[in-house]
Amino acid sequence: MAGASVKVAVRVRPFNSRETGRNAKCVIQMQGNTTCISNPKQPKDGAKNFTFDYSYWSHTTADDPSFACQRQVYKDIGEEMLLHAFEGYNVCIFAYGQTGAGKSYTMMGKQEPGQEGIIPQLCEDLFQRTGENTDPDLTYSVEVSYMEIYCERVRDLLNPKSQGTLRVREHPILGPYVEDLSKLAVTGFCDIRDLMDAGNKARTVAATNMNETSSRSHAVFTIVFTQKRRDQMTSLDTEKVSKISLVDLAGSERADSSGAKGMRLKEGANINKSLTTLGKVISALAEMQSNKKRKSDFIPYRDSVLTWLLKENLGGNSRTAMIAALSPADINYEETLSTLRYADRAKQIRCNAVINEDPNAKLIRELKSEVERLRNLLFSQGAEPTSTGEAPADPDHLIEDGEDGEEADSADSAEPISKEEAAEMLLETEKIIAELNETWEEKLRKTESIRLERESLLAEMGVSIKEDGGTLGVFSPKGTPHLVNLNEDPLMSECLLYYIKEGLTRVGQQDVDIKLSGHFIKEIHCVFVSELNDQGEGETPTCLSVCLSVCLLSGVRSPSGGQRCL
Ligand code: ADP
Ligand code: MG
Repeated sequence: MAGASVKVAVRVRPFNSRETGRNAKCVIQMQGNTTCISNPKQPKDGAKNFTFDYSYWSHTTADDPSFACQRQVYKDIGEEMLLHAFEGYNVCIFAYGQTGAGKSYTMMGKQEPGQEGIIPQLCEDLFQRTGENTDPDLTYSVEVSYMEIYCERVRDLLNPKSQGTLRVREHPILGPYVEDLSKLAVTGFCDIRDLMDAGNKARTVAATNMNETSSRSHAVFTIVFTQKRRDQMTSLDTEKVSKISLVDLAGSERADSSGAKGMRLKEGANINKSLTTLGKVISALAEMQSNKKRKSDFIPYRDSVLTWLLKENLGGNSRTAMIAALSPADINYEETLSTLRYADRAKQIRCNAVINEDPNAKLIRELKSEVERLRNLLFSQGAEPTSTGEAPADPDHLIEDGEDGEEADSADSAEPISKEEAAEMLLETEKIIAELNETWEEKLRKTESIRLERESLLAEMGVSIKEDGGTLGVFSPKGTPHLVNLNEDPLMSECLLYYIKEGLTRVGQQDVDIKLSGHFIKEIHCVFVSELNDQGEGETPTCLSVCLSVCLLSGVRSPSGGQRCL
């Protein structure tokens, strides 16, 4: 049972304008699937070669015969993973690399023809293929969640109501999961594209509010793909379920080089906790392979939220691919070399994927017997606490302290559990059963109500999500004055629109209509007044404030052109 190794690709992007402006030298060369990096300080003998499943040369343009476009990356990696998902395997693609190296471009890309990344292409392909099905006994369902891990906390990017952080829990049967993370039912590519878009915006808005850039968080887009086949003779259903995890990791650069200081340093260390743990897990898994030890020594999955949630994808039941994004520029030589070494280690990992046939029926059976067990336990505990053979580990462990991971993988630390704990576990298990028993119609209803909430919340915040029709370029909603991209993240690829409503629109840090944060943003930064004209359109908004900063002004676009500042 050798298992399949993790597919590893590297991809080098074009120079950005700053690099071109500084006359940067390209330190990367590619030949077939080999990548060569040369040390700009020792151009003669500093070159190192690495071989991967794919080496993508995206440094030039499409007229270069060796140029790798978005489509090719999808065809090689995305499509292969999608086909595995149709076979019933869990699959995972994660993008690694320093900030600005091209992770988001490779995973999400831009909403321009030919520029879409793996995620939108995979979703479109998925619905294309399911749409071609003519077998009446075969039905498909697709559910989506999108979360962000920031400072070891999980946030739901699709449900605005879950403002706080979600709990990462471990269920004795289900394993690690995020409690209350919304799993939205989708019926076609448009649904999923809208969710992706809403999630990307939520990510940017959150980053703006926290005065951070999204490059410091990990984004995990998950598709649960279920294929149900009805057997005509017996009228029995069999199911195959595949979880497709698409991960855009935080920038891999060290906290100190990204300018994290003081308070930020702590956050940086926390973000790096997931990333450094990922590194440790990959090293440990790679070592396990090279030593050909049968049993895994201890793999520190539990030490971070990211590795805990991706446990199966890293060393277990999954077909996994990693794409390492590389900067071509000489100034990034050290980081790029370290990314190449990281990718080189990941090559050695092997996963033992199995087809997830009928997992739900089996799961519900197991969960029911767990409920039974807990009920009995609670019943007998009326008098005195009893110990149980398989108390789950405390889920808070992995967030609060990573030290005591030694006993982690032994699921049966036979500690007695209290009545309260048993009652909580019972609730948790019943909640999971209820979720599994939900009908498709119920799921669709829930999805719709969350969508309405999401839209009204974003509209309240002054952010348009609907009117721009899902395009990422700057789109001016007709008849409504608005501000564009008040986000200080220079790498932001999403477009945010902030409406100036009729009447007063207050901009500032607290209790305002448009919330901004940053060094120079005052508590109440400025107030816009907008009056309707005869056609019912918003007239040129007037800014009442005298302290309007230049960055704000430059963002103002109004349909009637120009703005006045009193
Ligand atoms: P990361 O997510 O790793 O921080 P991005 O994907 O945001 O980096 O890429 C940084 C910038 O470089 C973006 O403007 C992006 O459009 C551009 N870019 C990255 N990779 C490519 C590529 N292969 N081709 C063209 N542009 C790219
Ligand atoms: Mg990014």
